[in-house]
Amino acid sequence: MTFLPYGRQYIDQDDIDAVARALQADYLTTGPTVGEFERAFCAATGAPFAAACSNGTAALHLAALALGLGPGDVCVVPAVTFLATANCARYVGADVVFADVDPETGLMRPEDLEAAVARIPQIHPEGRFRAVLPVHLAGQTVALAPIAEIARRHDAFVIEDACHALGTEYETAEGGVQVGTCTHSDLACFSFHPVKTIALGEGGMVTSADPELQRKLARQRSHGMTRDPDAFVNTELAVDPAQAGVNPWYYEMQEIGFNYRLTDIQAALGISQLRKLDWFKAQRRALAARYDVALAPLAPVLRPIAKAPGCAPVLHLYEVLMDFTAIGRTRAQVVKALHAKGIGTQVHYIPVNRQPYYEDIYGRRALPGAESFYASCLSLPLFPAMQDGDVERVVQALQEVIA
Ligand SMILES: *Cc1c(COP(=O)(O)O)cnc(C)c1O
Repeated sequence: MTFLPYGRQYIDQDDIDAVARALQADYLTTGPTVGEFERAFCAATGAPFAAACSNGTAALHLAALALGLGPGDVCVVPAVTFLATANCARYVGADVVFADVDPETGLMRPEDLEAAVARIPQIHPEGRFRAVLPVHLAGQTVALAPIAEIARRHDAFVIEDACHALGTEYETAEGGVQVGTCTHSDLACFSFHPVKTIALGEGGMVTSADPELQRKLARQRSHGMTRDPDAFVNTELAVDPAQAGVNPWYYEMQEIGFNYRLTDIQAALGISQLRKLDWFKAQRRALAARYDVALAPLAPVLRPIAKAPGCAPVLHLYEVLMDFTAIGRTRAQVVKALHAKGIGTQVHYIPVNRQPYYEDIYGRRALPGAESFYASCLSLPLFPAMQDGDVERVVQALQEVIA
């Protein structure tokens, strides 16, 4: 019996051929294929603009840079997320206030954001609420419109951590849109780590509806440099007086940036992966529906996370909530017993506010929703190459382990 990990990339011969062709082309680092991938990503998600970068963490860092976040600014981050959502605020010298989450979905609710904002004056008397980073945990969307409304009232930015939510659609007053359109946010960040919905090895994307933000992202992912003659400010160095034209070698750096570039090799893989996105979406949705049915008899000791209203998710993770006290076994015992049966699982996530780095800076504060979610969550195998029978195998193993 093959081992079923909790997530796994899907790479076929078309992907391998695309990478082989990219290796024979002129550019190995950022070249024309990156632009092609960005356009394909916009077409697939409905995003107005997209800037590719080296990974999802870089995408979040670039988002914080492009919005000019820095010391004195406070970012609200849900406690249940991957480390990078909070770390990007620290990279730019901003502070983090952690918000609680709904114990049934793991998603930050508008009231959790309000409560976090209300705590800011006690924690950071000099700080100002400047950004919120809602996380579409497991692929379900937070209630973006009310969250954006709260942010707008405080003149704060919204950066979606959409790393789990490629392909997810959600309802707005104007109809259904996809995550990445930035209908209710300034920027949305994606990751193409192998377990995410499309896999590039490493890769990331920032989408927006603002061409000025887009120009900043493009500059900051490559050292802060520009080759746009209209943007040059140092005419003494830029212009050749004899020709009254711009020097052909000239580039300019007006702000600090990084090397967060995606390569043409990865972009070629990305274009090939996006061609399979509709199939990935259909597979993930079908497998999730099959789990929903097969797991129903195991309630109430085991139940899927609650369905978030107003969205049609493409789940990145199939998370369940288990009552380990009722089962009479610890989560570690359950994880090990499942592993022995060839079933991989993972915990998403240890609340980030409990990490020693963050507790050392901000101390400990009770976030009961996040603690409850963390105490009972477990992610079951979910990836496009899974067969229908694999779902039954997982459910059978769970039944034996909790019996
Ligand atoms: C994967 C992930 C990231 C970071 O993406 P990388 O590509 O691994 O850097 C950030 N936030 C969330 C919620 C993620 O799942």
